[in-house]
Amino acid sequence: MAYNRGMTATQSLRQCDLAIVGGGAAGVLVALHALRTATTALHVALFEPASVLAQGIAYATPWPEHLLNVPVGRMSGLPDAPDDFLDYLLQVDAFPGMPRDALAAEYAPRRCYAAYLQARLEQAQAGSPAQFSVVHDAVTALQPGTATQRLTLAGGDSWQARQVVLACGNSMRPLPVAGADALPPGKVVDAWDYDGVRMLAGDGDLAIIGSGLSMADSVVALANAGHRGRIHVLSRHALLPLPHAHGGAASFDPQPLPGLPLRQALRALRGHARDAVAQGLPWQSVMDRIRPLGQALWWGLDAADQRRFLRHVVRYWDVHRHRIARQVHAQVTALERSGQLQRHRARLDTVLVLDGTLQVHAHGADGGLPPLQVGALINATGVETRATAMRNPLVQQLLADGHARPGPHGLGLDTSVQQGHLLDAGGQPQPGIQVVGSLRIGTLWESLAIPELRVQAQQAAGRALG
Ligand SMILES: Cc1cc2nc3c(=O)[nH]c(=O)nc-3n(C[C@H](O)[C@H](O)[C@H](O)COP(=O)(O)OP(=O)(O)OC[C@H]3O[C@@H](n4cnc5c(N)ncnc54)[C@H](O)[C@@H]3O)c2cc1C
Repeated sequence: MAYNRGMTATQSLRQCDLAIVGGGAAGVLVALHALRTATTALHVALFEPASVLAQGIAYATPWPEHLLNVPVGRMSGLPDAPDDFLDYLLQVDAFPGMPRDALAAEYAPRRCYAAYLQARLEQAQAGSPAQFSVVHDAVTALQPGTATQRLTLAGGDSWQARQVVLACGNSMRPLPVAGADALPPGKVVDAWDYDGVRMLAGDGDLAIIGSGLSMADSVVALANAGHRGRIHVLSRHALLPLPHAHGGAASFDPQPLPGLPLRQALRALRGHARDAVAQGLPWQSVMDRIRPLGQALWWGLDAADQRRFLRHVVRYWDVHRHRIARQVHAQVTALERSGQLQRHRARLDTVLVLDGTLQVHAHGADGGLPPLQVGALINATGVETRATAMRNPLVQQLLADGHARPGPHGLGLDTSVQQGHLLDAGGQPQPGIQVVGSLRIGTLWESLAIPELRVQAQQAAGRALG
């Protein structure tokens, strides 16, 4: 179904060849690749409720202290132009005077990345014969058909599309405490509410639930906004994200690792890390070496080992794999050394409202902690990976209507490995619906960061238009 320029404006707006659901980084990358690939006047429509494209969650922060956790030289949106983000930053003179090599290794503010994707999308649109529409509304339902897929929007409009790509991205986990939704407004702030977190800065004590990347974001934001009160960080394992390092690449052959049982693979990795350190290399070089094999390592584990990994290893894996810029790590650990940041290895029990403050009750392995009296809580529990718990009406509709099923181990939505097609409740691939990004985590495991998203986006756009 080619876009028909003879239709009325209202009719034409309701039909498209490719509908992309979600205008965060992943959706914009799909649009970018579709516009670059198109050779005819087909119609690409991008559905995104937010007013600004390409920000999604990660790149919506306006604050300079929120840095990318991947160096500039590895953040290109184009698999066939690995230096594209670096070139863009040089073109716009984002870091005046910084030499190219140094910039490639730099961790740029995340806000630069949304600006980069917006600029590249604009260029692709200008050079493409395709028509491109942006619809600022959420898709709340999707009914697959043989030739066309029907989308229903929150505002009530309906669209028909020949092909759909779901790029709905990340949902935040709810605060893990009963009655969280009933806590007074302003007393619980999501870590992804970047302005809201900064507005909590002051003399009072605060608690952050979760100790991962979003905790680090919140801590540096509070510190840069002049927070003087204590920051209590509560989490079940209380592991802080580890820093990136410079200093050489490990050269061992990682190919035998996929396919080893979990215990042996971990033993081998620890051995490689010891060898690296003995050679004067950082242990991080071992994780960098196996980075391209993330999906193969996941597939290489049988179902029982995948379960063991999720139960016993994932928290340790995450802090080694999802690292933060050294300056962010230094700021967090300096606050901990000074006593302003206090880490508690504990599980949250209840949060009570007392005289306008919150009393936080939690227990650790040795029993209950003394209650913490804080002015507000920050929910930094991170990305919700369980499909049935995701607070996205479209995901819930797809599951309820049998058009989707949870992925392996309940993680994300189930998709075909090679083509990324959404599998229905019976496991049948739906050729009109592809999925990119974090919704594929159960199938692919490594499906969150730009190095994977750019490849998935290019392939999805190519398949949709092919
Ligand atoms: C805080 C944070 C920092 C990160 N930093 C990095 C980094 O430095 N480098 C890196 O490579 N990766 C990073 N990541 C990983 C990150 O997930 C990806 O890089 C990327 O931003 C994911 O983009 P996305 O579009 O898949 O998801 P999101 O950013 O979550 O965007 C999804 C978009 O879809 C829209 N949407 C959802 N449902 C619907 C619907 N039903 N209808 C219409 N629209 C919908 C949402 O409004 C949203 O705009 C970070 C992640 C987080 C959370």
